[in-house]
Amino acid sequence: MGTVNVMHVSADKETCAVSSVCVYRVPQVFDQDEDGAVEIIDANPPAELHDAVRSAARGCPTRSIHLR
Ligand code: SF4
Repeated sequence: MGTVNVMHVSADKETCAVSSVCVYRVPQVFDQDEDGAVEIIDANPPAELHDAVRSAARGCPTRSIHLR
């Protein structure tokens, strides 16, 4: 068995500043609802997107993206 490489992405709409940074960086994972707040479209992204998702989480101005 290889190393388990699962990422779970969540985001807090309450603190999201609707900056769209994450949506531009990783549109496969992040989208916006009708009010512009972040919406997760793939909570378990494939391994090839993990670096981009980590980068988007670091780049979120309100730290609204959570990874585990
Ligand atoms: S980067 Fe952060 S503040 Fe900007 S849309 Fe995404 S979750 Fe919201």
